[in-house]
Amino acid sequence: MFAREFLYRTSGVNMQQYQGQQPLIILKEGTERTQGHDAQYGNIAAARAVAQALRTTLGPKGMDKMIVDTIGDVVITNDGSTILEEMAIEQPAAKLIVEVAKTQDAEVGDGTTTAVILAGELLKRAGTLIEQDVHPTLISHGFRMAADKAHEVMGEIAFEVAVDDRDLLIKIAQTAMTGKGAEGGLDHLSDLVVRATTQVADDGKADPDFIKIERKSGASIATSGIIDGIIIDKERLHPLMPNEVKDAKILLLNTPIEYKKTETDAEITITSHADLQLFLDEEERMVREKVDGIIDSGANVLFCQKGIDEMAQLLLAKAGILAVRRVKNSDLKKLSRATGASLFNSVKAIDSDGLGYAEQIKEQDVGGDTMIAVTGCRHQNVITILLRGGTKQVVDELARAVEDAIRAVCTALEEGAVVPGGGAAEIETSLALRSFARNVGGREQLAIDEFAKALEIIPSTLAENAGHDPIDACIALRQAHEGGQKGAGYDINNGSTADMIKEGVIEPLKIKTQALASAAEAAIMVLRIDDIIAASSVGGEGEMPPEMAGMPPGMPGMGGMGGMPPMM
Ligand code: ADP
Ligand code: MG
Repeated sequence: MFAREFLYRTSGVNMQQYQGQQPLIILKEGTERTQGHDAQYGNIAAARAVAQALRTTLGPKGMDKMIVDTIGDVVITNDGSTILEEMAIEQPAAKLIVEVAKTQDAEVGDGTTTAVILAGELLKRAGTLIEQDVHPTLISHGFRMAADKAHEVMGEIAFEVAVDDRDLLIKIAQTAMTGKGAEGGLDHLSDLVVRATTQVADDGKADPDFIKIERKSGASIATSGIIDGIIIDKERLHPLMPNEVKDAKILLLNTPIEYKKTETDAEITITSHADLQLFLDEEERMVREKVDGIIDSGANVLFCQKGIDEMAQLLLAKAGILAVRRVKNSDLKKLSRATGASLFNSVKAIDSDGLGYAEQIKEQDVGGDTMIAVTGCRHQNVITILLRGGTKQVVDELARAVEDAIRAVCTALEEGAVVPGGGAAEIETSLALRSFARNVGGREQLAIDEFAKALEIIPSTLAENAGHDPIDACIALRQAHEGGQKGAGYDINNGSTADMIKEGVIEPLKIKTQALASAAEAAIMVLRIDDIIAASSVGGEGEMPPEMAGMPPGMPGMGGMGGMPPMM
């Protein structure tokens, strides 16, 4: 009885419209409610705080962040999505901005910082408009019009790229990598990226999933290289297994090949030798059965995600099967796509049609370690880039840079279009939006104008991070573009404007349009919120019913019960 009353009682905030009557009660005890401008300003401030945190990392001269997690692991990075992921942000509107970075990362793999900074700037300017009594719905509408127009303008300044434009692809890779700790090996690494991408390219487009990055610390960046095939950082399980298999029929399994351990810790008391023998026989029978299933499938290579016990190893070796255990899930996925193998969840489910094919699987020396190379895959050639660097942190940061570069080159090939970087595309779009705003007129004009100004945050942040004056930089850029220099961007080394196409600062069109679209979407989403209803956190202060007072804080139940009937 008590619990029901408790669940439907409310703090009554903002609810006492019926003066003199009982307050209207619709929310749960402890629920916090923020409405109107308070909600909008609060959300805008939180979202901007996220953008502000990333600002200093934008561009080649951007700074790095050192993030220490709860168990003391250190990540040093300049990569927007990595930073936000590691920061473990809580505020709901701020989380929406983190989603922008995630979407950007998932869609195009680069331009995350740009998207987040843009979203923050759009919201800042929306906040000013709200103060001037422009309704958020109008602002949203204006922003949407501006985003569509911006997309169009960017398309107009874009130029073509194809898989045989090696020089242009190198520039795209280098632009994506600059400022990411890869400076020491920029030429070498961009060459590897472009070689890998063109080798996996099919019909002019390349799928980044077919380029694998393998990391190994302990050598200089210059010793990084390309290896044909999928490299798996594992050795064959047993010396009696073959170290090379031609015409490989590949089985992928994600079930252990060992005696099935009981789920709970059970103790089995064995009192006689006969019992022990029975027990061991049973164990052996189960393992043998599984191995027989594998042999019967006709596979001569086995990649297993789980363990393979000693007896199974021997049996597999005897059957001439090359087996590898504890293979990473990501490797299994690549193997599956490239060789056409299905991933089986149990030995019983194995079907010979689900075996993959590769011309050769071989153990080879990779940077001083024995690894397994899978080459000549049935469906698709896969290339591995082996990254070397002094320490784990260096290699990890290199890997993030190279990943960005691979994604950038693949994204550029996908649409076959690129735009000048260094703020050039943004300034050109900004100017076009200003005249568009004048044509639109009305109150939307205000929002479109603010959208146009918001785009300048990219070149001005680039300049600021390089230690130059952001306002001067924008004025110079605007002048250059008004004078018809569509490719003029900010030359961070000289603190002046320069033609970005000549400088080789070139980015895929899709990175820019995606960043614009997701920033605008997120800003609009935040703007449309004028009421925040937040459930109280469980175990917080406030009166608890006596039944629940005894529970440890953080117990499930209170927060999640919603309208459920009381169970006590
Ligand atoms: P994001 O996460 O948005 O990709 P980056 O830190 O990679 O952020 O910075 C990207 C920005 O840096 C882009 O606007 C790009 O045009 C610019 N940029 C890259 N290289 C140069 C350069 N050499 N000169 C000027 N701007 C550059
Ligand atoms: Mg980038």
